[in-house]
Amino acid sequence: MKILFPSFAPPERWRNSAQSKKLEGDEWKALRQRILARDNFTCAYCGYRSDKYQIVDHIDGDPENNSDVNFQIVCQMCNLVKHSGQGCVIQGIVDLYQEAKYSQSDIVRITREMRDKGSADTEIIAFLGLKNKAPFKMDREYLKKLLGFVTSRKSPTDMYSNWVRYHKMTLGNIKHGWN
Ligand SMILES: [Zn+2]
Repeated sequence: MKILFPSFAPPERWRNSAQSKKLEGDEWKALRQRILARDNFTCAYCGYRSDKYQIVDHIDGDPENNSDVNFQIVCQMCNLVKHSGQGCVIQGIVDLYQEAKYSQSDIVRITREMRDKGSADTEIIAFLGLKNKAPFKMDREYLKKLLGFVTSRKSPTDMYSNWVRYHKMTLGNIKHGWN
């Protein structure tokens, strides 16, 4: 497993659309499928496997660097921590802490398992020993020392909400009204 810590997509790699050489359409779909098959649909950080909603991630954050070695698979939860500008600010469903009893990857794994068993966020936070909340800052060295917790707050984006629904279905949860 790779080591996960909160970060954000490097703004120095951002390009305007006119300059972009991003892969699109069928070319991207084919490449995506090849990487998913290569890595067995499994998250590089926490080992979570899912047939759907896994992210094929550019390791260096450069959407134009499409060589195979620049790709890894990241699950929806680890992705929100890795791209914590997204998770904390845009979606507002990740909280950052200064202290924990576990590594970042274990925090993601344990959060998923405990939530699957019905634990509330307060119980999970207490078990993980998460203490001293800290704000998001656009500073990678600062973020590296923090630990991200994906809360059960509702995501405003379809991608994450769809994964939550799909994941619950894979657990055989057919009860209605969950979200
Ligand atoms: Zn993961």
